[in-house]
Amino acid sequence: MSTETKQGQFGQFGGSYVPPELQEVMDYLSEQFNKYKDDPEFNEEFRYYLREFVGRENPLTFAKNLTDKLGGAKIYLKREDLNHTGAHKINNVMGQILLAKRMGAKRIIAETGAGQHGVATATVCAMFDMDCTIYMGAEDTRRQSLNVFRMELLGAKVVAVDKGQGRLKDAVDEALNDLVVNYQNTFYLLGSAVGPHPFPTMVKHFQSVISEESKRQILEKEGRLPDAVIACAGGGSNAIGAFAHYIEEEGVRLIGVEPDQAPTMAEGVPAVIHGFKCLVLLDDEGNPRKTYSIAAGLDYPGIGPEHSYLQESGRAEYVMVSNEEVLQAFQVLSRTEGIIPALESSHAVAHAMKIAPQMSRDQIIIINISGRGDKDVEQVFHMLQK
Ligand SMILES: *Cc1c(COP(=O)(O)O)cnc(C)c1O
Repeated sequence: MSTETKQGQFGQFGGSYVPPELQEVMDYLSEQFNKYKDDPEFNEEFRYYLREFVGRENPLTFAKNLTDKLGGAKIYLKREDLNHTGAHKINNVMGQILLAKRMGAKRIIAETGAGQHGVATATVCAMFDMDCTIYMGAEDTRRQSLNVFRMELLGAKVVAVDKGQGRLKDAVDEALNDLVVNYQNTFYLLGSAVGPHPFPTMVKHFQSVISEESKRQILEKEGRLPDAVIACAGGGSNAIGAFAHYIEEEGVRLIGVEPDQAPTMAEGVPAVIHGFKCLVLLDDEGNPRKTYSIAAGLDYPGIGPEHSYLQESGRAEYVMVSNEEVLQAFQVLSRTEGIIPALESSHAVAHAMKIAPQMSRDQIIIINISGRGDKDVEQVFHMLQK
């Protein structure tokens, strides 16, 4: 299940490229994560909250209508949209806050772009009565004012970062500055399978519950493994969680789907971003390129180091879909199955709609529905008006 070639290293990707004072914090985090990840009491607590608070396990739903409509492979949907707060992010957030508690942290900090990770973090902080500070680009706080209010309702303090372009990257920088100063009582709760070691390894560990469940579920329903698992990839946390337990099953195709306007895998080059090495989209000056995606959660110029390696080694494939295909998929899944998917997840649906008809009726596809689309309905309404 692990593609780590050594701790925190995925071939040439991953690692930790941070200043010495931050490296000490990462080393300590690494040691604590390794201590607790196999600890039976810790895992029992994690499972308890996944069940009682998040609502796992969630179903692997057979999409009969979509399957009939496409006329090819059987399509199953892994229903991360049914988790509390409406997406997969809560799996990771729950794991990390339990670790933070064990480590004696009194204060949680996190970065957020569109606000989804911020809301998930504020949610568990409310439940565990932890002090919570969310860094968010000033520009993003204006565009996502309702999510700012959600976080505040949940008791979090939202800091609008005015530096730079007032976007996600600037929020990450501020959160890291805070961590360097306050590491003795503060835990940085990172939102995707990115960042310096041990974050990508840790986030995968907590998200791999997705494929642990889906593998058991598909074996129960079909008595065999799927032919393909498809997931959207921004930073790559839902995808790595959906892939994890299939990586060693070579007959299972693993397919990550990106927006064609943030084609990290197709056009990225190996570079260091946010303290780790991965494929990165660069502009002519060698800076991370400005990306634009209709799905805010996929709007990131890098991607997790393990995905970079899975592509390089050929174990996983990464493809692109267009905005039009995504909008189409969003509507088709809503209409055929009564499930409104997040725009991010609609990327995975869009690719499945392309390949399913070319596959035979006894083949099986699992699509990871990373989140529900309620948050996107207003945006889609405006896009369809045009
Ligand atoms: C944040 C988000 C994503 C993208 O993040 P990954 O780390 O790539 O999974 C995808 N889908 C939903 C619903 C999200 O909220």
